[in-house]
Amino acid sequence: MREIFAIFGDPVSHSKSPLMHNLAFRGLAYDGCYGRYRLIDGERLREKFFELQLKGINITVPHKEHAYRACDTLDPFATRVGAVNTIVERDGKLHGYNTDAPGFLRAISEYADAKNILLLGAGGTTKSTSAILSDEGYDITIINRGRERLKSFRDDGFKVSSFDDFTADSYDLVINMTSAGLQDESLPAPKEILDRVISSSKACIDVIYGKETAFLRLAKSHNKPTKDGSDMLLYQGIIAFQHFTNYRYSFEEIESYMKRAF
Ligand code: NDP
Repeated sequence: MREIFAIFGDPVSHSKSPLMHNLAFRGLAYDGCYGRYRLIDGERLREKFFELQLKGINITVPHKEHAYRACDTLDPFATRVGAVNTIVERDGKLHGYNTDAPGFLRAISEYADAKNILLLGAGGTTKSTSAILSDEGYDITIINRGRERLKSFRDDGFKVSSFDDFTADSYDLVINMTSAGLQDESLPAPKEILDRVISSSKACIDVIYGKETAFLRLAKSHNKPTKDGSDMLLYQGIIAFQHFTNYRYSFEEIESYMKRAF
């Protein structure tokens, strides 16, 4: 029987996930179909999942914490970071995973010699990726516009700072993990700070995809190598597809079809 999948989020119209997953279903001759659903009220995620008779979903902004609470079981990493972007139904139960963080790690594998990383932003994406990056031995500093979200990172032992009390060090990678630039042309931090940290960096990365953000333009003006969020999106999607299809296909098999979406 055909299995139905979807992405839940708000907004969701811009998402590439339906194209990515449908290319892989078709290419691998798997009887699945993937759509999009604009979920406004995150509290209704579980109810909508069953009402739409879905086999699995991906979850995007702003519902990853709702998704975490909607699951019956969670993999250990999702439990630790408190955010779920992939849910699979098995025997009437919802199983939750976080594929953003391993997807991101793979996306920066070309910078394996980097040691110090500056993360701009302290939201859900920073939460999951900072955990996996510190597990891998990277030295992480996090700066954020507001102070509120920094507390939990400080409790987890990260070096944290807001913009006004930030003393810049030298960082191999500077990574924008805010939503600044997603729907506007704003920079993720004051330009004076960015000029300083970008000029001594080896490369700059933005997790936003599908456009050149003001942050990446600034990095290019400093003649730094740049990378947007497309690889992260592709890799988190491939790992989600492996969960959806119970690891029937290798990463490379899925990638060969899914990457055609880019
Ligand atoms: P959250 O809403 O959890 O966090 C947003 C963060 O951005 C906060 O730290 C917030 O700071 C900061 N911020 C928002 N606007 C500004 C601004 N104008 N200036 C400075 N800081 C700002 O978002 P997520 O972590 O879920 O997502 C972050 C980004 O990552 C989004 O752009 C999303 O599209 C992208 N993403 C990409 C993926 C991919 O596959 N490529 C996967 C997942 C996410 P404050 O606390 O001060 O409000």
